[in-house]
Amino acid sequence: MDYIDHHAHMTSRTTDDYEQMAITGCRVLTEPAFWAGYDRGTPEAFAAYFEALTDFEPKRAARYGIQHFAWLSLNPKEAEDRQLAQQMLPLIERYLDRPNVIGIGEIGLNRVTRNEVATFEDHVELAIRHDHQLIMIHTPHLEDKLKGTRAILDSLASEKRIEPERVIVDHAEEHTLPLIKEQGYWAGLTLYPQTKVSPQRAVDMIEVFGPERICVASACDWGPSVPWAVAHLIREMRRRGHPDTLIRKLVWDNPSEFMGQSRKFKVAAQAEAIMVR
Ligand SMILES: [Zn+2]
Repeated sequence: MDYIDHHAHMTSRTTDDYEQMAITGCRVLTEPAFWAGYDRGTPEAFAAYFEALTDFEPKRAARYGIQHFAWLSLNPKEAEDRQLAQQMLPLIERYLDRPNVIGIGEIGLNRVTRNEVATFEDHVELAIRHDHQLIMIHTPHLEDKLKGTRAILDSLASEKRIEPERVIVDHAEEHTLPLIKEQGYWAGLTLYPQTKVSPQRAVDMIEVFGPERICVASACDWGPSVPWAVAHLIREMRRRGHPDTLIRKLVWDNPSEFMGQSRKFKVAAQAEAIMVR
């Protein structure tokens, strides 16, 4: 079954991973800006990264018939540095008009500090001001996921210009998914091989909370992760006897509906048509 992965850090992956994703049905992926495993520290280093996300990676993906879209931001781990954040915002704005950029992300909170909240709110302001960009939000993976998610939702609730249907709050778990959905946001379930949410846990959540406004992704990066994890979720849903219409809603229709709110997110009728030979 064809699928869309809305969260894949392909700069950290090999070309073989693109091939495996294509073989398992991935036709479209979106890549949010992320922590590199080390602090980049300067706007120049981020400019090189944004070039990769908006030029090199779309070309690399196209070789396997995969459409590549990107989200730009200073990531939550580096958001503590307010001076860097002030330098980054104009840089991000310069790249927002690139043809494959559909929004601001992944922004959010890591340790839930005052500085991180300030940088988060700067990004939200930029998204609203720049043609109401879509927003992708990272919630912390540590034991403070609930606290971090609440702080994010409180911050968003205080911004009256936010349109909840244009925001996805990612890395949801059993205790945060209902909060996110209740307030009208999209929720992301990210699938991991060892820790955090497994494909089985994700399907349990879908069965309990329903498939509305949920997207699923591999969130693959330089750490332990499986780039074709969405295919594992498809297999698990089939194993439990869920119909293809429901599976397709989760892995294709939902992400198409959410990201289709960006006028730049146009899925090629035939993925093969974008293949670069
Ligand atoms: Zn990520």
